[in-house]
Amino acid sequence: MNTTLQHDHDQFDELLTVTKNWCAQYLQKLESLPVHIAMPVEKGMHLPVEGAGAAKVFEAFLQQYGAYISGNAGARYLGFVTGGTTPAALMGDWLTSVIDMNGSSMEAPSMSIEQQTISFLQELFGLPPAFTGAFVSGATMANFTGLAVAREWWGEQHGVNISDDGLHSAPPVKIISCKPHSSAVKSLSMLGLGRNSFVQIPTLPNREAIDVQALSEYIQQHPAKAYIIAASAATVNTADFDDIQALVALKKHHNIYIHLDAAFGGFAACSDRFKHLLKGWESVDSITVDAHKWMNVPYDSALIFSKHPSLQLQIFKNIGAAYLGDPSKQFSYTNYGPENSRRLRALPAWFSLMAYGKSGYAHIVENNVDLAKAMGKQIQESEQFELLSPVHLNTVCFTLKNTRGELSKTVKIFLQTLNKEGKVFITATEFAGKPAMRAAFVNWRTTQQDLDIVMHALHEVYAKTS
Ligand SMILES: *Cc1c(COP(=O)(O)O)cnc(C)c1O
Repeated sequence: MNTTLQHDHDQFDELLTVTKNWCAQYLQKLESLPVHIAMPVEKGMHLPVEGAGAAKVFEAFLQQYGAYISGNAGARYLGFVTGGTTPAALMGDWLTSVIDMNGSSMEAPSMSIEQQTISFLQELFGLPPAFTGAFVSGATMANFTGLAVAREWWGEQHGVNISDDGLHSAPPVKIISCKPHSSAVKSLSMLGLGRNSFVQIPTLPNREAIDVQALSEYIQQHPAKAYIIAASAATVNTADFDDIQALVALKKHHNIYIHLDAAFGGFAACSDRFKHLLKGWESVDSITVDAHKWMNVPYDSALIFSKHPSLQLQIFKNIGAAYLGDPSKQFSYTNYGPENSRRLRALPAWFSLMAYGKSGYAHIVENNVDLAKAMGKQIQESEQFELLSPVHLNTVCFTLKNTRGELSKTVKIFLQTLNKEGKVFITATEFAGKPAMRAAFVNWRTTQQDLDIVMHALHEVYAKTS
């Protein structure tokens, strides 16, 4: 063994203690750290020939990056749709790295942990056993997988096996949608369908939800053997939901595959107050749900649920690899998703679900939605801000009001100043043709007190910049 490696091997206990102590301290001060810290461009380094050993590298890491480690996992990071990590999920994640077991392995206990976690999630979401679930790295890969199954289904409707014979043997695919997430569009590029295969149906007025009447008219005007719809259960700007029940009703008269992107909106199912938003989702063909957002497990973790396991197998099976067994005889997650080897990412989810249960998740969701609604109300009643959409779930989409100069510039300066101060982080967007911003509540830590700090920061920065 290399002498430095040997030394580290002998010091394992000390190394872990140093790391654990740093982690505990970091977590203790998480809420007082700036939510965002900008970092200057680094000069490049060369890879050392002789390594320094783990203890020295830890010091180097802190020296180089320590000052820029922000409280981005904390309560007031409201940018994008970024969750945190529950204590139990963190324990599960550490163990995942320590055990370092291949999540796709057919060996115990990896497969049973994964199967059990997926069935917990089906219970949490109230999804019927007709769905087969699988873990992937994020909602982008879940959308990729769901749309790959849709593509395979399209081939089947036209008597073509796309995974064996390629897309060119099937008639051109159209994907009908209204406000697809950028990752769904990216998936179409990765799947060889092309970004232009999207057919955009208009939204309902001042909404991000599909106009089902316009969709029905499109279908009447374009008679076809089969249709694929990419629906949304919570858009990123306003957390708006397509009317899933109305989309599912179209299946009675037409041959339709529905893929539903419920990356964070799927968690509405955890709450009796909000699960009506997902009415009908048990009847779609595939569903994307992110775990590293509202489930508050570390990156990278998401799920694809599908009602077409045989098509999924057709696409993702490993064949001609005797050591992996026969995919038609032996179940293995390697044959149901894009990855082969991967970390046992079900374990953090298993820990968190076992630790907090149905009521814990209902609480996280309801608390976040209540805070978003409270923020929406304060925004609406203020003289400085304009609420651009009703708060459908956990996202507040708003802009500045009564400003002097051009709105796009003012919003840009406002956000730069706000985010630089580090009390809160919010991302820019555009809504209804207006430069805007959005705050998304998905962190288990966020409280009313945080909302007060956020609102105070918004008003202070408005006074400074607008
Ligand atoms: C975040 C998000 C995605 C992409 O998820 P990643 O986990 O970043 O890959 C897809 N769809 C929706 C609606 C999202 O919010």
